Amino acid sequence: MEITASAVVRRLPFFVKPQAGEAFASWITRAAFDLGVGPGQFAHVLGLEMRRASEVTRPAFFGVILTDQSRQGLRLSTGLPESVLEGMQLACYGDSLLDLSGLDVATETSLRTVWTSQWVQLYASRCCPLCLRSGTVWPLWWRLEAAAICPVHSCLLLDECPSCGIRFRRGNYGLHRGLLARRGAMDPRLCGNRSHRSTESLPGLCEQVIADLPVTALSDTHVLSMQERLLQAADGSRMSVFGERVSAREWVSCLRYFAAMVRSMSGESETGRLPAALRSRFASYLARRESMGRLGPKLQSGPATSTDAAAVFALTAPMMLSSDLEQAAKEVEPWVLRLVAHRVKNKIRDPLGHIDRPAPLDSLIRRLTPQYRRVIGPATALPRTTGISLQHLPHLLAERDYDDLISRHMHRTHAVTGRLMAAVALAKHVSGSDTWAAAAEALGMERDVAERVTGGIGNRIADSAGFWQGVGEASLRLKERGLVDYAARRAALSTLRRVPLEDLTVMCRQTGIRATDQRSRYAAVWIWTETTGGDHRKSPGFAGAWHGVSQGGNDLGWWKFRQNVQPILREPLSAWAARLLAASGVH
Ligand SMILES: [Zn+2]
Ligand SMILES: [Zn+2]
Repeated sequence: MEITASAVVRRLPFFVKPQAGEAFASWITRAAFDLGVGPGQFAHVLGLEMRRASEVTRPAFFGVILTDQSRQGLRLSTGLPESVLEGMQLACYGDSLLDLSGLDVATETSLRTVWTSQWVQLYASRCCPLCLRSGTVWPLWWRLEAAAICPVHSCLLLDECPSCGIRFRRGNYGLHRGLLARRGAMDPRLCGNRSHRSTESLPGLCEQVIADLPVTALSDTHVLSMQERLLQAADGSRMSVFGERVSAREWVSCLRYFAAMVRSMSGESETGRLPAALRSRFASYLARRESMGRLGPKLQSGPATSTDAAAVFALTAPMMLSSDLEQAAKEVEPWVLRLVAHRVKNKIRDPLGHIDRPAPLDSLIRRLTPQYRRVIGPATALPRTTGISLQHLPHLLAERDYDDLISRHMHRTHAVTGRLMAAVALAKHVSGSDTWAAAAEALGMERDVAERVTGGIGNRIADSAGFWQGVGEASLRLKERGLVDYAARRAALSTLRRVPLEDLTVMCRQTGIRATDQRSRYAAVWIWTETTGGDHRKSPGFAGAWHGVSQGGNDLGWWKFRQNVQPILREPLSAWAARLLAASGVH
């Protein structure tokens, strides 16, 4: 490696002073322009240690850390306090955002470790053109890969210059990073990248005025709060996750862990929840991940663009901003279960297992990760949902949940039978019963229904892993909607054979519907199915003899009631049912 010792370093009589939070390269560009020299020439004047002296000058560890020689040169040439000089180097994040333990000032190749493992851009910077309208200072934090939006202007930062297609401040050549030494001063308002690699002639530098570039507004409060917190962490502030105090470094570790989680486990629904400006980029990320057939491009690498960073913020914010452990558990559990289901399905080890987890996060993830259990029957190993038990299960899984999550995993199965089977599967999932029959019994299902439903169920399940994943997700949906004690409701309504005719008459007033004996029974059936999530044929109102009416006639009458009467009486019937349940102390 060729290292050029600087010539004699002299104290500069006058120069532009660095601003608080400014990047080293930014200050050098501004100060050189002010003196009318090229930034590379100025770097020599400052006495920086050089890797190469040619048209392009490369100071050693430029903008990352000061070598002893560079520090000494700067002290002599500028007289600036050490804290100001250090404050312009990325190494000042070494106590907070970045882990620079792999950095060895004796070997420049050690930069590669930092570059690949830490969320930082060593050779380029993002920027906010609106900030650059009022000056030419480029803050150091714009070099972080977690730099997504400008908190002052609520817009996405820009990654590269649209005129030359090169990342901002990457340098005079597309590939050679360095400072221009032989040419004159470089106007800091301009892009200044050199887009051609030819060295025969000197093609011009990109003359794009950065402050003229358009920006994309993004005023998402989640992204904004996350960006602000990241900047607090950058300052080394004490942070908190789930209500526990953590260091800035631990906070960033949590962010990186959750980022890997949402990157690997997100799907279309997450894309839909993102702010509109972030969707297409995230959708193409997911498409790339799918095409790779694995969990995607390196899970730990930093967000490649400001848009990626904003998407990471948006998706991790509900977890990162949880104010206490309970809320955090609610936000994190669905992700953990998805990850576990993914592992079960693909028979792989935890793809996030190698990612650092600070103590509060580690204990949360351990608590939420289900233990693998062997489940007898057609089920494979199945992650168990916590905090939900048998009494919270309906006897018939809601139609929408069945359609969304389970129907596609079943061979030719009638929807009602499938929904009954799904309810028994949920019982098996929640109770850990060894057999289907035991699960149906634990659920309190009638013996004849149980036998019909569970006989040969294994042959109907087309995709066992998918089926159980669907069951797990269905249980999460029940939790998310707020648990209902269906068992208590079933008990409270077990004798509801009819809504008293006089009550129904009151409800029917001014509706044009006549209150009849048959309708008072169907009203009871409707209340029972709505309230307990059960099969109407098993309701008390439907059971027993309906004088002179066949099962088919009953079904037809029920169908007519639902078509013609129920839409009109839905509200008064619901209110009547709520009063009845309340009288039994059930909700
Ligand atoms: Zn700005
Ligand atoms: Zn450019």
